[in-house]
Amino acid sequence: MSSKEINIIGGGCAAFSLARFNNLLPQYKFNLFLKEQHQPINDHYWGFWKFKENQEAYDNSYCSWNNWAIITSNSKNILSSKKHPYCVIKRQKWLNFCLSKLQNKQVNLFNRKILEDNEELFDGNYKLNGDYIFDSRPPKMPSNILLQHFEGYVVNSKDEIFDDKTVILMDFRCDQSKGMHFIYLLPFSKKTALVESTMFSKHLESNNFYDKAILKYLKKYYNLKSFTKSNHEKGIIPMHDVSLMSKKIFNIGTRGGAVRPSTGYAFTFIQKQVLQIKDQLISGKKINTNIHSKIDLFLDKIFIRVIDKYPEIAPTIFSNLAKNINGDEMARFMSGNCDFKTNWKIVFSMPKIPFIKSFFKIIF
Ligand SMILES: Cc1cc2nc3c(=O)[nH]c(=O)nc-3n(C[C@H](O)[C@H](O)[C@H](O)COP(=O)(O)OP(=O)(O)OC[C@H]3O[C@@H](n4cnc5c(N)ncnc54)[C@H](O)[C@@H]3O)c2cc1C
Repeated sequence: MSSKEINIIGGGCAAFSLARFNNLLPQYKFNLFLKEQHQPINDHYWGFWKFKENQEAYDNSYCSWNNWAIITSNSKNILSSKKHPYCVIKRQKWLNFCLSKLQNKQVNLFNRKILEDNEELFDGNYKLNGDYIFDSRPPKMPSNILLQHFEGYVVNSKDEIFDDKTVILMDFRCDQSKGMHFIYLLPFSKKTALVESTMFSKHLESNNFYDKAILKYLKKYYNLKSFTKSNHEKGIIPMHDVSLMSKKIFNIGTRGGAVRPSTGYAFTFIQKQVLQIKDQLISGKKINTNIHSKIDLFLDKIFIRVIDKYPEIAPTIFSNLAKNINGDEMARFMSGNCDFKTNWKIVFSMPKIPFIKSFFKIIF
């Protein structure tokens, strides 16, 4: 019989990923506040490199590849890893997997919006208490920060035009006039691929901008002029440490700083965060939701400043990165599992002057 209570706010990646451990914590009753009816709308893909912390997501993944390419106007680097393939999972598949792990007797799902007043959380007129509160509501984004913003869709072609063995992680052969811009292409088959136009900048662009970039890219590099579109997706991810600290309420997911500021990747970090919380709850240790190392956050700050001030060197930064490390090292770097040696290899492969200038700006 559960005597303690855990309240989880939100019905997205972090909330469900955490709640799925309910069977390992039989002493707790779980209440999940989902805001609205949990239904399969706005499905999209989460990409990640396979590591032990996301093994269950790998088991449920939609597609995985051992190769990924970084392309600029004068270089093409293909990185490979057998151990850490690049994978994507559909959002709804992951949420359904987590949902299937919830035990009816132990978990209550409420389709209710939680309100905040003076750092307290309310379900209608009732103040949320419980032994622990984990809050995954999207945070308010500070103004004037670098954002990762993207739009795209699944392209279905009549002909076999895509190389289905290699993900195009970044192709910079697109309009660089508005900030760092690249095409992300996931080939699900030789005829079908998710294609996204992605920007790292402070200002969002009109829908037309992303669409035009995709059409131009497909025409120029795949000679593709007519195709059908499905699974439209768009997103805005803060490239900033938005972790909100609260004494009584533990923030998780994007709200809890799980997004890696320099890349916008969050799925793997959310899995690390909820595993860490699960272990702390089991052992009765103090809850600590910090997931990125101090050195990673510091290097990310420098990187973000460089991209903000010198977006024109972004293609060089990423092609240097791809030239100087191997696939396993890149997978570890992108997933926050990088060792000291690889970190230094990356630092030394970067264009010196902008990074040194940014280093001193951040220090002083
Ligand atoms: C389109 C898109 C693609 C992405 N692709 C990738 C990727 O490929 N790889 C990667 O690593 N990361 C990716 N990300 C980033 C990140 O993984 C996701 O944003 C992830 O969903 C963050 O999880 P979360 O739980 O913090 O937020 P969410 O999944 O957004 O969940 C927040 C939840 O809070 C609920 N909520 C809001 N207000 C209230 C309220 N008042 N009361 C109760 N509930 C409330 C919402 O309904 C929602 O269910 C992507 C993001 C987007 C938007």
